[in-house]
Amino acid sequence: MADDYVRRTAITRLSVDGEQRELLEETISEWKRGCQLATDMAWGNCNTKSDVQPLAYDDVREHTDLGSQHAILATHQAAQAITGCIERRSNGRKVSKPTFTAPTVKYDTRTMSLFDDGTVSLSTTKSRVRCELALPDADDGYQRQYLDSDTWSVTESTLTVRDGDYFLHIGFRRPKNDTERNTVEDGTVLGVDLGIENLAVTSTANFFSGREVTHDLRDFEKVRAGLHQTGTRSAHRTLEQSSGRELRYIRDVLHHASNAIVDEALRYECDVIAFEDLTHIRDRTGASWGHKWAFRTLYEQVEYKAEADGISVKQVGSADTSKRCAECGFTADENRPTRTEFRCVKCESEANADYNAAKNIGMRYVRRGQQSSRRTGNSQLALKSGVVTSSGFVET
Ligand SMILES: [Zn+2]
Repeated sequence: MADDYVRRTAITRLSVDGEQRELLEETISEWKRGCQLATDMAWGNCNTKSDVQPLAYDDVREHTDLGSQHAILATHQAAQAITGCIERRSNGRKVSKPTFTAPTVKYDTRTMSLFDDGTVSLSTTKSRVRCELALPDADDGYQRQYLDSDTWSVTESTLTVRDGDYFLHIGFRRPKNDTERNTVEDGTVLGVDLGIENLAVTSTANFFSGREVTHDLRDFEKVRAGLHQTGTRSAHRTLEQSSGRELRYIRDVLHHASNAIVDEALRYECDVIAFEDLTHIRDRTGASWGHKWAFRTLYEQVEYKAEADGISVKQVGSADTSKRCAECGFTADENRPTRTEFRCVKCESEANADYNAAKNIGMRYVRRGQQSSRRTGNSQLALKSGVVTSSGFVET
């Protein structure tokens, strides 16, 4: 992206009381309506902030309870969403009009103020609320390096709610040095886990079911059972050359998944997509040779498509990515009570096992080469909403 700033996000939970909760809830609901309204008006007409704002501002003000600045931001959000669609369409992808369902609301420096006492003041549809940032006690709370810094300044931020808890994704930026630009060494990473139950899961919690692939591969493998004995290499070649109905169907599913993974990387402005090392994937996942072919094909499709968008595709070491807790880093067999569940025996955090693995894979790329030094680097991992840096792992 052409941008003169390095941007980072610090994520923190907020301590809110009942009344504040109601105000924030109401604000999120009105924000979604405002963004939708502006998008409905601008879709097919215009997509720049300077066009969408004058077109939709009055209507957003009239038909929602958003304050003036939040109404402006909602028109900008609509402009950004429509621009994203146009870009994806120009890359040959199918797009449809954006809908705003995520429970979030954007803030800028006019609608949000951070204070030195660790509180934040947020505009709502009525009065401002002032609440405490519930920062981790640990010394390595990575948020501090931005909050306590003179180099980083606050920019656009996002409030989001999950399971009744409010999280603030505080955007920070600092000017780029002359020589700096986002590169593979220094960018945002999307982690991807491959498997049988879920064909692919991203660190941003996008799931692609593996059921269709498994079903069709099973049929195919049954028919071609004889090939199994003739050795993997020729079996792979036969699969490559096959034009059977099942194979065509599986290829369609893989194309759909690889497009979606690249779209996800674009949406989160990732510079790198990280997979686990595919070499021993059969041992780890219990995959059949057909599955291994499917994983390899998916990987190559992603690599091919991502290249056109300037995104690198990498493999990282796969050791323990399924047993490590993405929250606290504790690694143990006992963390995996079943194939699909992850439950950390140390910090008790629970997650879908493949989603946990996807975050570990992405994080492994972010942290590569950092074990032996205190270098923190500038890479970060794309998560479901917002991102974390290499020095912190806060769930969003
Ligand atoms: Zn843990």
